Amino acid sequence: MATSDIQSPAFKRRGLMFVLSSPSGAGKTTISRMLLAAEPTLKLSVSVTTRPPRPGEIDGVHYHFCTDADFDRMVEEDDFYEWAHVFGHRYGTPKGHIRSGLKDGQDFLFDIDWQGTQQLIQKDKQDVVPVFILPPSIEELRRRLEHRAQDSAQVIEARMERARAEISHWDAYDYVVINDEVDACFTSVCGILQTERIKRRRQTGLIDFVRELMGG
Ligand code: 5GP
Repeated sequence: MATSDIQSPAFKRRGLMFVLSSPSGAGKTTISRMLLAAEPTLKLSVSVTTRPPRPGEIDGVHYHFCTDADFDRMVEEDDFYEWAHVFGHRYGTPKGHIRSGLKDGQDFLFDIDWQGTQQLIQKDKQDVVPVFILPPSIEELRRRLEHRAQDSAQVIEARMERARAEISHWDAYDYVVINDEVDACFTSVCGILQTERIKRRRQTGLIDFVRELMGG
């Protein structure tokens, strides 16, 4: 399903921060990739992390990989919108051009955990659209993590443990989608994005538009 913006490009709109969270293995990365492919105007917020790259991960595309010292420096210089400890490593959202981008109508996609989501909501509730993806069952989650085979058994166990903890934060999200079937999940997520885009408060060009309609 294409998710192109239904408003004309000339129509002024404030951008949004579309946050996808889930326990690892629930399919969030697949859904993120599908969204970015279907929606070229959606920009991925590339996080900074101290975790080493996995096979196939590219610096600057999947993450900005950095040392502990680099991360410390960025924290000191207040370069992060939010940051958190996850699985013994640190992850953070660099401020970059997010604030000015939102003002110009740019939408951003965030693949961050519940701690980061909470921080974004505290800072910018109006702009955040928090979406949580759940696996259809805990057995299926384990199967998906094992199938991925990128991590050792010990890491998988740690991720299962962490998954239960992550799931417990489901009620901090406005939207919860169960990823039983990936296309159906994607359709729901696209629907959320489209609906949130046309919220009245985001359509900053509406006042002039309606004024013209009424005056004409
Ligand atoms: P992974 O190591 O599997 O790529 O990511 C582990 C977890 O860290 C995922 O739940 C992911 O959403 C989260 N994460 C990735 N980037 C960020 C970030 O910038 N901030 C926060 N708070 N969490 C992040």
